[in-house]
Amino acid sequence: MQNEGRVMRSYSSSEQLLQQVASLKEELKECRTQRKESEDKYKRVLDSRFEGFMLLDENRVIIEVNKALLKISGYDRNDFIGHLVDKFYDKASLNFYSASPDHFSFEALFRAKGGCLIPMLFSRSTLNDENHQITGYMVFLTDLTDLKETQEELKRAASTSGLFCQGCGQCVKQCIAELPIPDLMRAYMYTYDYRNLALAKGLVVSLGLPGRVCEDCSSCPVRCSIGFNVPAKIRDIVRLRDVPTEFLS
Ligand code: SF4
Ligand code: SF4
Repeated sequence: MQNEGRVMRSYSSSEQLLQQVASLKEELKECRTQRKESEDKYKRVLDSRFEGFMLLDENRVIIEVNKALLKISGYDRNDFIGHLVDKFYDKASLNFYSASPDHFSFEALFRAKGGCLIPMLFSRSTLNDENHQITGYMVFLTDLTDLKETQEELKRAASTSGLFCQGCGQCVKQCIAELPIPDLMRAYMYTYDYRNLALAKGLVVSLGLPGRVCEDCSSCPVRCSIGFNVPAKIRDIVRLRDVPTEFLS
């Protein structure tokens, strides 16, 4: 009877053990499912972004990228994975925006496939474990091409706006000789902005100006609304009348 009891107890503990193993297996399966769902969710979020994304390990080696980065760069995923992030930008072009212990942003030229250089904003955040040890980095990359082109256009506009008469007509009544100042300013623009001297000369000649222009006033009362030195520009531009046409083409 004693042996029977031992067998029953041992049978019973084997059953319990098997149940525990089954339960652990179930928990493990549930954990894996949850982790997979969480990874899929995280990947969907990253893939839906317009910005490029890189996940780096603690040595700045790329371990994941998103679809947007593949599209921007022209590379395949395998061109990135296992490579140092430094390989993908020109360090000489680096320009820091902000920096703190866990985050910094910089602009640099990104080396896309085929050697094309793309102005890119890199925003890097550090990933730490519970002991504050660095475990990796997240890097978001924003293509600055459109922004740079707009900035260049604004610069060009700013540098040439000084050449454009606004045609407000404020100066016309102030001029003692009643010169067609806005037309003369247009000729100035043809010369120095369009670089079309023939067009400028044609306009100047067509205005029927007196022989001496802006040379007889003791002082000039003209005050241009955008600050042009009107008589200086006029004296400059009327010289075109004396330039032989064959030098203007
Ligand atoms: S200097 Fe020239 S612009 Fe000024 S008032 Fe005399 S003619 Fe007119
Ligand atoms: S005041 Fe200046 S901007 Fe206005 S029409 Fe005369 S030259 Fe042009």
